[in-house]
Amino acid sequence: MTTTQEKSRDFIRTIIAEDLKNNKHGGRVVTRFPPEPNGFLHIGHAKSICLNFGVALENNGVCHMRFDDTNPSKEELAYVEAIKKDVQWLGFDWGANLFFASDYFEQLYDYGIQLIKMGKAYVCSLSADDIRQYRGTLTEPGRESPFRNRSVEENLDLFTRMRAGEFADGTHVLRAKIDMTSGNINMRDPVLYRILHASHHRTGDTWCLYPMYDYTHPISDAIEGITHSLCTLEFEDHRPFYDWLLDTLGTPCHPQQIEFARLNLTYTVMSKRKLLQLVNEKYVSGWDDPRMLTISGLRRRGYTPASLRGFCDTIGLAKRESSVEMGVLENAIRNDLNDTAPRAMAVLHPLKVIITNYPEGREEELAIDNHPKNPEMGKRQVTFCREIFIEQDDFMEEPPKKFFRLAPGQEVRLRAAYLITCDKVIKDADGKVTELHCTYDPASRGGSAPDGRKVKGTLHWVSARHAISAEIRLYDRLFNMENPEADKETNFKSHLNPDSLQILAGCRLEPALAGATVSDRFQFERLGYFCLDCLDTSPGKLVFNRIVTLRDSWEKMEKSN
Ligand code: ATP
Ligand code: MG
Repeated sequence: MTTTQEKSRDFIRTIIAEDLKNNKHGGRVVTRFPPEPNGFLHIGHAKSICLNFGVALENNGVCHMRFDDTNPSKEELAYVEAIKKDVQWLGFDWGANLFFASDYFEQLYDYGIQLIKMGKAYVCSLSADDIRQYRGTLTEPGRESPFRNRSVEENLDLFTRMRAGEFADGTHVLRAKIDMTSGNINMRDPVLYRILHASHHRTGDTWCLYPMYDYTHPISDAIEGITHSLCTLEFEDHRPFYDWLLDTLGTPCHPQQIEFARLNLTYTVMSKRKLLQLVNEKYVSGWDDPRMLTISGLRRRGYTPASLRGFCDTIGLAKRESSVEMGVLENAIRNDLNDTAPRAMAVLHPLKVIITNYPEGREEELAIDNHPKNPEMGKRQVTFCREIFIEQDDFMEEPPKKFFRLAPGQEVRLRAAYLITCDKVIKDADGKVTELHCTYDPASRGGSAPDGRKVKGTLHWVSARHAISAEIRLYDRLFNMENPEADKETNFKSHLNPDSLQILAGCRLEPALAGATVSDRFQFERLGYFCLDCLDTSPGKLVFNRIVTLRDSWEKMEKSN
């Protein structure tokens, strides 16, 4: 993980430090996180959240939470609430600074009037298609709209009537009057307002005229006194308009827009539009499906806020697009949980073992460390008896050479218990192994051989008489292609991994796990890190999610391929 010192080296923090030194904004740092409430936040947003709130915190500044809610057709109150919850869960606090672009609709409209009066905006009555046609291309200049030279009076009259609801959707727009030959398409008279007869989740039916993002954003920043407007690279080409607008209006505050590379991760898609398709078309159980790289999905999966913040620190900031390996995210949670998660034993695919020389009615309590390196995490008691469960794949009837687990005649260690040797294999009519008969060495209590003989394998186990049952869900990557969007011929949904969710019923767990709460996270020995599923666990049914495996199994697979 990077230290604060290292953090200060990224280019944005360098700019901010320089500005503070030069007293550029009167020594203030005010940033904002501006989500559009049209979906849930994803891990990419976490990068932006950590950056915006992070630099504010580091510089005694403030970070505003601002909903960029200018598109009523795609936005909902439910998204607003989900987004607030996610940002707070990540550990950030906007205090009193909660804003909505829709609170500025009146001011934005007044600025529209001002631009018209200055001769810097006009009402254009071309159709959307024609506007596109007239706009030109990267290589060809655009053409001026036939409506470009309407008089100020006519523009004021039309704009007022647009607001009053006299016109149908798509009949008129308000455009900035800049330069149709500009090399930057965003400067070719961009649309500032469009007519949309739609109810807004906050302003209801007050408006049928809605401002565009590129118009709303700079003005909202200026109204709030933002000093540094940090955004992703795709807005670099929009910066000239950002600056043109605030310069033209002469706003008292003119924030500096600085762009950074968005986060891309392998084996996933990272756009709300695509995530929404997965939700709507039921490829996943919802925005908070534990396979989704949404903040709510990662939370339900068991990721901690600290692990996501640590991840954002690790990846740092760059000015060039790149893709981060999924393994980096997984390592962030492993690093966090390795130190903090108590150990426990669970058997995913139980195989019954009878210890034939262990007295029938006897039970003994064995003390096991909750953590191998943190003695302060204490010990727990685990009951041992004549019947236990081990994992089916910890036994092989005809093992290959280096199989150090259980096999006929082979001895293994039961974690913190005894050494056992397999004597007999019981099978059903189909030849499936249903039970093993073993003998234990009574002198090996705790798991070490009295004569020092070498026993390589150590298995986890649970008492068959005491274990509780649970459903365990194992997750794999949602896509089976490193970049599901790379192949333009195919739809990203055709690259979904059919094995991304495996549900195991009838898993057997240490009885103490019956007392687990949704905020607990455990390392199930040899299996990975697990937590209770906060939605599907009910009083009669325990459901555990695997957060992550113990090691990066994908990396291994890729190497061996
Ligand atoms: P998406 O493309 O996923 O829909 P968006 O950019 O449309 O994302 P917004 O709600 O507008 O979503 O984003 C809010 C803020 O989060 C913006 O400042 C945006 O730049 C930032 N952001 C979005 N995606 C990423 C990402 N992958 N990496 C870093 N920042 C991001
Ligand atoms: Mg957006």
